[in-house]
Amino acid sequence: MQEQTDPLVRFVHGILDATMPRDLGPFEFQQTDPSSAERDRFLCDEIWYSGRYQVFLRKDVRTGWSMECPCVDRSEDEADPTIDSDCEKCDGSGMTHMPVTHLSIKRGDREPIHDWRDLQIIKSLFCGAEAEGIEIYPAESRMVDTANQFHLWVFPESTRIPVGFNDGRLVADSKYGKGKQRPFEIQPEGLMADGDFRRKALTYCESKGMVGSEQIDVLGEPATDAEIRAVYAALPKDELKNAIEHWSKRANKDDPDEQEVKRRLFLIADINAERMLKEHKENP
Ligand SMILES: [Zn+2]
Repeated sequence: MQEQTDPLVRFVHGILDATMPRDLGPFEFQQTDPSSAERDRFLCDEIWYSGRYQVFLRKDVRTGWSMECPCVDRSEDEADPTIDSDCEKCDGSGMTHMPVTHLSIKRGDREPIHDWRDLQIIKSLFCGAEAEGIEIYPAESRMVDTANQFHLWVFPESTRIPVGFNDGRLVADSKYGKGKQRPFEIQPEGLMADGDFRRKALTYCESKGMVGSEQIDVLGEPATDAEIRAVYAALPKDELKNAIEHWSKRANKDDPDEQEVKRRLFLIADINAERMLKEHKENP
């Protein structure tokens, strides 16, 4: 059974404050050496401080989820694994509960600042770049809210939370349209260059038929002919055909963006002509 935590215990977490070193960077963590009494009092295995945060780390917290036991060996046969019948973790069943790491996090200055980006860095630092964690918005009947303290529950690194975005990493600090983004304190890996992000946003708008003022809302500035041309020139034959069909259907006076629609048809016709010329040259 998972131990029940008295809300008062969470409240007293604050008393280690005096030992907080002030000369560390925001994410430069140092481990303290808590006594076993302290570990017991704070219900954690490790206590860490940085110049901005204090992290209490509790390992192997039991959950209601199950996972394949590490004793299951699929190296010989993926479909028919061998299971250690003497395994204490799973009693030879091959399945065991999925443990999570509980990160209990507060700002050194105790301010109620809940910065997703900072918590993401802390998750990666303590549990691994590819580990995934959750923050819970619980039923009111089990809500604990006694301090500006934030809790992440992080799964083993091989586990994927079966909800979220699934189209790969996308990190950008470009400022387009009405969106707001702040500069990164720590340069993240794979930060998308301004031009690449604008191209991606434009490609999205074009694929959704968002032109005219809708597109300017996203991009801030209207797309040039060359930019629009590049989007369509990158499409394979069948997708370009679909685009022609889409814009041809819209090319009438009822469309408030009639001129924009015609501009696309003109540019696509140009791309088609170029492709035909190229094909003719290659196979005369
Ligand atoms: Zn096992």
